[in-house]
Amino acid sequence: MDYSKFDLIVVGAGFYGATVAERMASKGKKVLVIDRRNHVAGNAYSYRDEATGIEIHKYGSHIFHTEDDGVWEYITKFTDFNDYIHTVPTRHDGKLYPMPINLDTINLLYGTNMGPEEAEAFVAEEAKKSGITDPKNFEEKGISLVGKKLYTTFIKNYSEKQWSTSATNLSAEILSRIPVRYSHDDRYFMTAKYQGIPVDGYGKIVENMLNNENITLQLSTAFVSIMDEIPTSIPVVYCGQVDELLDYELGVLPYRSLRFEAEWVDENSPEGADSKLGHAVINEADADVQYTRTHFYKYYQIHEKEVLAQPKSYVVREYPADFVRGGDAYYPINNKENEALYAKYVKLLNERYPNITLGGRLGAYKYWDMDKAIRFALDFSESFEV
Ligand SMILES: Cc1cc2nc3c(=O)[nH]c(=O)nc-3n(C[C@H](O)[C@H](O)[C@H](O)COP(=O)(O)OP(=O)(O)OC[C@H]3O[C@@H](n4cnc5c(N)ncnc54)[C@H](O)[C@@H]3O)c2cc1C
Repeated sequence: MDYSKFDLIVVGAGFYGATVAERMASKGKKVLVIDRRNHVAGNAYSYRDEATGIEIHKYGSHIFHTEDDGVWEYITKFTDFNDYIHTVPTRHDGKLYPMPINLDTINLLYGTNMGPEEAEAFVAEEAKKSGITDPKNFEEKGISLVGKKLYTTFIKNYSEKQWSTSATNLSAEILSRIPVRYSHDDRYFMTAKYQGIPVDGYGKIVENMLNNENITLQLSTAFVSIMDEIPTSIPVVYCGQVDELLDYELGVLPYRSLRFEAEWVDENSPEGADSKLGHAVINEADADVQYTRTHFYKYYQIHEKEVLAQPKSYVVREYPADFVRGGDAYYPINNKENEALYAKYVKLLNERYPNITLGGRLGAYKYWDMDKAIRFALDFSESFEV
C-alpha cells in the first residue's frame, strides 16, 4: 500500500482510535485505521449470534455509562441505546445480595431489619470493634472500613481472586473506600446520567463511526508488519502497548489479565438454572468458586422479547489471570514503579519516533471506561493538527 496518500494513520479500531479517525476525517483528513484483530471496536466488541439473537460481548460485559453530555451527544450520532440499568448481585453461599453494599445487603447478611440510621451506626460500630486505626495492608483497611463480617464475606475473597494473592499481601492504598449505601438503591452506576446497551451492539457503533469516505480500514494487520513502510513524515496515533512497540527494551509493563470460559445452556435444564435468575452479571464472592463473575448476556437485551423468550443462554465465567508478555492486557497495575517504567518508555518513544503519538487505554497505560476513551479522543482530535 502507498501510505504516503494518508494524512494520518491510526493503530487500533477501539473507541479511542475510531473517535480520532472519525473526527479527523470530518475535518477532511485522509485516515488509515489498522487493527491486528479481525474486527473493530477493540475490547468493547460485541456481535450477534444469528441463531438466538443474543449479542455476545467477546471480551466481557460492556455497559455504556457516562456523566458527560458531550460524549453522550457524540456517541448517540452512531447508535441508539436501550434503557438497561445495570445492577449486579453478588453470590455468597448460594444466596444473592445487592452490590455495592446497601441497606438490604446488610440486613440480609445479619438477619436484621435495620433502618438507614441504625444500619449506619451499626457498621460504624463493627468497623470500630476491629480496633484498626493504622491499616498496614488491604485486609486491615477493609476491616477498618466496614468491619470483619462485611469485609470477609463480600470483599476479601473477590479481591484475592482478582489479584491472585492474599489480601494481606496487597497494599492498603488499593482500597481507598468501600462504598456502602444506607438505602435500597442497587444501581451499579449510581451517578451515571446516561447508561444503556447499544441496540445493534458495539461492533456496529464503530462500523458506523468508520463508515466515512475519508477513512480506510485495514483489519488483521499488526503495526509492526507495516511500520517500516510508513514514511516518518506521516503522523501515527498508536493505541497499543508502548513496551511492545519498543520490543520490550526496558522490560514488560505489568497488567492483570482475564480468561473467559463460555458455554451454551438450555435454561430449562439444571445447568441453565442460574441463567433463569434473570441477571446479566452475578459477582461470585466465595473462595471456593474460582471465577469472579458470571455473565448472562441475553439479559442486556431487555426489550427483545424473542431473545429473552427462547430457552438458550450464553453463559460466560470470568477468571482473573496472570498477564504474560504478548497476551491480552486488561488492567494496568498502576503503582509508582510501573508508572516510572511507563514514563521511560514514553521518553524513548518520543526520541526515536517523534511522529508517533500514544493514545487509548493501552497507549496511556491506564484503565479507562469507554466514555473516558471517547472523551480523551474528542479532546485530542480538537487540537491535533496534521
Ligand atoms: C473486562 C472489561 C470490562 C469492561 N467493561 C466496561 C464497561 O462495562 N463499561 C465501560 O465503559 N468500559 C468497560 N471496559 C473498558 C473498555 O473496554 C475500554 O474503555 C475501551 O476498550 C477503551 O478503548 P480503547 O480504544 O482505548 O482500547 P481498546 O478497546 O483496547 O482498543 C485498542 C485496539 O488496538 C488494537 N491494537 C493494539 N496494538 C496494536 C498493534 N500493535 N497493531 C494493530 N492493532 C493494535 C487492539 O487490537 C484493539 O482493537 C471494560 C474493560 C474490561 C477489561
